[in-house]
Amino acid sequence: MTGTKDDIEAARKLFAGPCDFIWGATSVDNLPPAKLPEVAFVGRSNAGKSSLLNALTGRKALARVSHTPGRTRQINFFNLGGRIVLADLPGYGYAKASKSLAEEWQNLIFAYLRGRAELRRVAVLIDARRGTMDIDREAMKLLDQAAVSYALVLTKMDELKPAEREKAQAGLGVEAKRHTAAYPEIFATSSLKNLGLEELKAHVAALAAY
Ligand code: GDP
Repeated sequence: MTGTKDDIEAARKLFAGPCDFIWGATSVDNLPPAKLPEVAFVGRSNAGKSSLLNALTGRKALARVSHTPGRTRQINFFNLGGRIVLADLPGYGYAKASKSLAEEWQNLIFAYLRGRAELRRVAVLIDARRGTMDIDREAMKLLDQAAVSYALVLTKMDELKPAEREKAQAGLGVEAKRHTAAYPEIFATSSLKNLGLEELKAHVAALAAY
């Protein structure tokens, strides 16, 4: 479901407005007070999360802070137009060999997910070139357990041939059906080529406070 023209325009305005870094949390004991609806972004390291956050907000380096060594294990919070908070969760599976979620990651994320009343949705990023990997399924399972509603977002769609794009989207749709907390609509995006960003913006903006 893509939004109406008005929804798309309202979302464009929201994302074109101010977006400020407000907080970096390394543990659930120091999360910022939740006063606004929140949408979190998560994915395997290298899935394209920083690029997507930058593309959505029209900033070149919004999410750079997350890439600073030593700060990658924190949740970074951004206030978008005083109406919604975007939470940049640490990437999982950062070590090449890691096939399962690191315990440290699970503990932080699970505590955050469970305890965050204002959390409206999580965007789970899937690299379209790789498709859903076991570690992504593990992360989805964790979200299912936390009963947090999440939307699956394919990234780097420009890397696929047009014929492969539909297949990737349909395949992820099948995956979504296997998970209790997955939102049925799949978002197919490319930060590089500006694909599917309007729809994702509209999806997030619909959750914002007025
Ligand atoms: P993160 O670790 O999830 O934050 O991922 P990054 O945003 O740093 O991106 C990881 C790599 O994927 C980088 O080399 C990016 O240039 C590349 N990348 C990110 N988004 C896209 C995209 O939309 N298309 C293509 N072709 N590459 C992308």
